[in-house]
Amino acid sequence: MQACKIVFVFAASGKQILVYSFTYYREKWQTNCQRKSIQNRPLDGLQETSLGSSPPSNSPGEQQGKSKVLYCGICHSDLHMVKNEWGVTQYPLIPGHEIVGVVTEVGSKVEKFKVGDKVGVGCMVGSCRSCDSCDNNLENYCSKMILTYGAKYYDGTVTYGGYSDNMVADEHFIVRIPNNLPLDAGAPLLCAGITVYSPLRYFGLDKPGMHVGIVGLGGLGHVAVKFARAMGVKVTVISTSPNKKQEALENLGADSFLVSRDQDQMQAAMGTLDGIIDTVSAVHPLLPLVALLKSHGKLVLVGAPEKPLELPVFPLITGRKTVGGSCVGGIKETQEMIDFAAKHNITADIEVIPMDYVNTAMERVLKADVRYRFVIDVGKTLKPDV
Ligand SMILES: [Zn+2]
Ligand SMILES: [Zn+2]
Repeated sequence: MQACKIVFVFAASGKQILVYSFTYYREKWQTNCQRKSIQNRPLDGLQETSLGSSPPSNSPGEQQGKSKVLYCGICHSDLHMVKNEWGVTQYPLIPGHEIVGVVTEVGSKVEKFKVGDKVGVGCMVGSCRSCDSCDNNLENYCSKMILTYGAKYYDGTVTYGGYSDNMVADEHFIVRIPNNLPLDAGAPLLCAGITVYSPLRYFGLDKPGMHVGIVGLGGLGHVAVKFARAMGVKVTVISTSPNKKQEALENLGADSFLVSRDQDQMQAAMGTLDGIIDTVSAVHPLLPLVALLKSHGKLVLVGAPEKPLELPVFPLITGRKTVGGSCVGGIKETQEMIDFAAKHNITADIEVIPMDYVNTAMERVLKADVRYRFVIDVGKTLKPDV
């Protein structure tokens, strides 16, 4: 196992990393960036990557690198986490798992990156590296997968995300960002992008000429349309809001649009889709979607409603249809997705915001009042000396 790290860090002093972070405490965001000393993530302790079995290195400089976080997207799951809606949040919390930055220093054992490289970190920063999932480049399905923030790292410390200029990650969990991919609009691909790219590939919904439905036109849905179109797939957007039609067809390049509440439209489109990527995380009926599928069609859920959905079995049986799920993607596939996006000029549609707008942005995310992703300009607006 490699023991190399890329370290996103603002300043290091002895065994302390001085972190200038934007941190959510129990009640509210700190409106000013606060200088914090994080003692449980010393630079000297970062060599630990082998689940506690390898001896600490005496030459951490060789195995580390420094890099500065420039942009971080705001994912809806950040909102769940800051509000502790999944019951697992530990405060203080530094959210953010759509992180891009530039490497400023690397140790001699870091092989994947060099100074000046543009890099990104998505939803995870660790896994066991030895189970079947890890062996098959599916770290995202490893039972010991370590989330980028708010999780326990190998050494027992808590992981911190990208709403900070300090980011620590093993080089295995860092992806290269090609030079032609804009860093700000590319950041959301690290979560939203891979979340929809992976099921399109895995479920075989990526063949030119196929017809795929994308349910929900938000952060996930709008990039799903772009990826599917770039794969040569015919795309129908399915949404509850008729007013998204023009946007879907003209700006995002979808081929057609269905209003899910319009019985006539839905009836007319029955049995026309090879597959559906359902990005909706609110409770919603599946029967109308299953009905849109051809025989052998696949309905893939990537949103996570907090309550169980009703699954109509009869139409599954009679059409040999599949209902499945998918959760982000492995590191190898994330790199493939980023490279594909760069090749096909796919980015997220974003609204770039300063760090001190995060409170307002969170409120707007709650109301789905964003087209389609907020990206924090961490590099220019997270000031250390406030
Ligand atoms: Zn996310
Ligand atoms: Zn594993």
